[in-house]
Amino acid sequence: MKALDIIVVGGGMVGLSAALMAARQGLQVALVEAHAPKPWQKEQPDQRVVALALDNQALIDSFGLWQDVLDRRAYPYSTMTVFDAVHSTPLRFDAGELGRPYLGHILENDALVEVLWQAVIHESNILLYCPDKIGSLHETESEVRIGLQSGVELSARLAIGADGASSRVRELLGIATEDHDYGQKGLVAFVHTERTHEHTAWQCFLDSGPLAFLPFGEHCCSIVWSLSQTEADRLLKTEPEVFCQALDSAFAGKLGKTRLLSDRIAFPLRRRLAKTMIQGRTLLLGDAAHAVHPLAGQGVNLGLRDVSALRDAFTASAGKTGDALDGAQLVRWARTRYSENTVAALAFENINRIFSNDNVALSLLRGHLLGIGDRIVPLKNAMARYAAGL
Ligand SMILES: Cc1cc2nc3c(=O)[nH]c(=O)nc-3n(C[C@H](O)[C@H](O)[C@H](O)COP(=O)(O)OP(=O)(O)OC[C@H]3O[C@@H](n4cnc5c(N)ncnc54)[C@H](O)[C@@H]3O)c2cc1C
Repeated sequence: MKALDIIVVGGGMVGLSAALMAARQGLQVALVEAHAPKPWQKEQPDQRVVALALDNQALIDSFGLWQDVLDRRAYPYSTMTVFDAVHSTPLRFDAGELGRPYLGHILENDALVEVLWQAVIHESNILLYCPDKIGSLHETESEVRIGLQSGVELSARLAIGADGASSRVRELLGIATEDHDYGQKGLVAFVHTERTHEHTAWQCFLDSGPLAFLPFGEHCCSIVWSLSQTEADRLLKTEPEVFCQALDSAFAGKLGKTRLLSDRIAFPLRRRLAKTMIQGRTLLLGDAAHAVHPLAGQGVNLGLRDVSALRDAFTASAGKTGDALDGAQLVRWARTRYSENTVAALAFENINRIFSNDNVALSLLRGHLLGIGDRIVPLKNAMARYAAGL
């Protein structure tokens, strides 16, 4: 067996992308994943959707896989409209103003994971250990040793923990996290809408939290509704008609009457930021490093940006020192990504705090902010560029 360069723990969207990226740079990779992914189903869409920004679409395209994603299912959106329940002036971002045909695509977690998984299993530079789990992690001066629960022992020059918000890699390294429980759940489902969504990703701010309608087919939207835990639990159990009445009322009937097309599921919303993204020769990526509020669908985008930035660090390092895994570049990568992810996580949280609040002063402020944001074109374009990943 060839000596390993990198062991990636976790084969979600971020770990699979990291493994592929490293393998395509000529590095020898082992990928450890606890469960083989459940297959994408044409007839039963995965409720966990992603608003994939253009820079992350480019990352998937660089693997030669974007067409495979489109062959399954992905819906472009060319406008993003942000409004609140009280004020009339919405904030609208148009792809045309940025000279683009669209701002991003809505796609299912299962579809992207399946496409990446298929590529990983055919990649000669990747050894796959699945189903298996990390059991131990020890570092020596020059390598990381990882013991798997199956008894397999692996060693490599670098380890990557991409094993999600409850990361075992992070725990084994003793890296502390800064946690904030929003006391909310994100309720997700697919609904039929009476009016067409106009290829727009809608984000409505309510006192209780944001409600997104994301285009998913002609008269179909994926909704992501942030609610107090009690309200989410209540709405999960109500009759479909009663649920849709509450939804239509919250969304001010913008797309007409809705009809439920799927089960409803809810997941707890919390911010969890690891204190560092590097320790010794191990890196944390994706939700293992930063689980954030799913406002504007940016959570997954941050994780995939970790991967793109790591590719740039490998390339720069190989150019300078002849070694893609040079420590100084990795430390620089971790510092930059840590500050960008922290700023983004806190920005999402502050937007949520200002816009999802029944405080009268904040309510007045948000109306002004939306109006101002819409009128100041350079500010609006800067926000649109950030959301689209340009
Ligand atoms: C229901 C739901 C809806 C969501 N909706 C949105 C949304 O609308 N917008 C948005 O931006 N985000 C959303 N999110 C969050 C988004 O899914 C995550 O940000 C994203 O999946 C993170 O990707 P990841 O690869 O870092 O982690 P994960 O997707 O969590 O992948 C981690 C992987 O590691 C594996 N693993 C875990 N422990 C071990 C171990 N010990 N050994 C080996 N492997 C292990 C797991 O099996 C898993 O495959 C949602 C999440 C949920 C649950």
